[in-house]
Amino acid sequence: DKAAIGLIGLGTMGSALALNIADNGYKIAVTNRTVSRVAEFTRDAGDLAKNLVGCDDIASFVASLETPRAIILMVPAGQAFDDQIEALKPFLDQGDTIIDAGNTNFHDTRRRDAALAAEGFRFIGMGVSGGEEGARFGPSIMVGGPVESFTPIEPIIMAIAAKYQGDPCAAHLGPDGAGHFVKTVHNGIEYADMQLIAEVWGILRDGQGKSAAEAGALFDRWNEGDLKSYLVEITGKALGSVDAETGKAMVDIILDRAGQKGTGRWTVIEALGLGQSASTIEAAVGARSWSAVKDVREAGAEILKVTPEGGASVSEEDLAEALLAARILAYAQGFDILTAASETYKWDLDMARVAEIWRAGCIIRSALLDDISAAFRGDMPKGRLILAPAFAKRLIAGSAALRRVVASAAMNGQPTPAFSAALAYFDTMRQARGTTDLVQAQRDFFGAHGFERVDQPGAHHGPWAMNPK
Ligand code: NDP
Repeated sequence: DKAAIGLIGLGTMGSALALNIADNGYKIAVTNRTVSRVAEFTRDAGDLAKNLVGCDDIASFVASLETPRAIILMVPAGQAFDDQIEALKPFLDQGDTIIDAGNTNFHDTRRRDAALAAEGFRFIGMGVSGGEEGARFGPSIMVGGPVESFTPIEPIIMAIAAKYQGDPCAAHLGPDGAGHFVKTVHNGIEYADMQLIAEVWGILRDGQGKSAAEAGALFDRWNEGDLKSYLVEITGKALGSVDAETGKAMVDIILDRAGQKGTGRWTVIEALGLGQSASTIEAAVGARSWSAVKDVREAGAEILKVTPEGGASVSEEDLAEALLAARILAYAQGFDILTAASETYKWDLDMARVAEIWRAGCIIRSALLDDISAAFRGDMPKGRLILAPAFAKRLIAGSAALRRVVASAAMNGQPTPAFSAALAYFDTMRQARGTTDLVQAQRDFFGAHGFERVDQPGAHHGPWAMNPK
């Protein structure tokens, strides 16, 4: 009998996903560019090998699938993906479905969705979060594409997804690029949360002289409370880990230079394109770029010597409260991008459902998400999470600590780009009358752009205008 589904790309994620599918009782055909990997994979699969059909070439792979076929591609996004589609297409029939489970830019997904539909194929762009372990034992899955393309594979996707109290963390979120876009913003929020946590580590290490083990114990404790989340949990474990070679704390011998694969940056680019600013996410993406110029920072440590005035150090309670408040603001900015994109691309995203499918399986899973989905299902002034009663209350409660953390860090010369951005956003959104009155005056002064008045309708110019338009 034939396989229910196929998968191409037996790398880290593809292998784990294939085993997950096999583990859920579905027969799955697999193949890989480097053919030797196929035999190795099926050999190491143990009992699950009975549900695996290892194929050494595309022709036998396609022939081993039930029709209409459903084929998951788990290869690097970009050219590799397009090449793989081209290699696959000659063997496919009309109505077969190609599923992109990689971290693809949603613009590519929209393009491919249109191109493949025109050729009679079905296409699904599916964001998968949770790393290798998630893929193997239950990821969060964000699906985009025609709903009729998703329906045939829905039982498999629901079976392999993470479960939150029995509810599968997978959903069809909208057409074309909706799934990949939501995954992108998920990763943007992930960047922000990671950066906020790293800034707390900086304050503990450089401001308070705490060891990695001490800081790790603090994160372990925090993970028992409101901050409970996967990222806080692994932070505690990572800080508590020791390097086998040197006996030193692992984190202390890791070079402070990070890479980025694109999704965080895409979030920021798309936010700006949509007229939004996810400033906390921007700060996190920027911090990774700054981390890359290690040589400049080393020179700066010599050349830009200052002795900050100093200021009161903050308590552990303040750090915890500030982290929670800033995390809420980062999520809120992420959801604002989703709201703007949903309107622009006519996706009709169900934000409550997005929050729900992030409650398990994915990297940003946290105790907050249940409350976020409840907020989206409840009364939310202006559609903004920060104005939802439950979150407004938490932000008000946490804002004093957030302020103390940012102020203390500034006075002590410690960079907190993400915390600072979160606080600035919070304070800006509390300001009914901002300072863009002056920006408007400047624009009218040099460019005769005109401005609106608070007391009269219509467009106006200031007394400086030489040639009012
Ligand atoms: P790996 O590098 O582990 O695996 C890549 C796979 O793609 C291999 O099977 C490789 O085959 C194949 N491949 C590479 N180039 C080509 C090509 N030009 N043509 C055909 N096949 C090719 O990557 P991952 O499994 O980590 O990532 C796969 C996708 O999943 C990416 O889009 C990634 O961003 C995304 N992702 C990764 C996560 C993670 O935590 N790692 C989490 C969520 C998404 P070969 O064996 O021949 O090299």
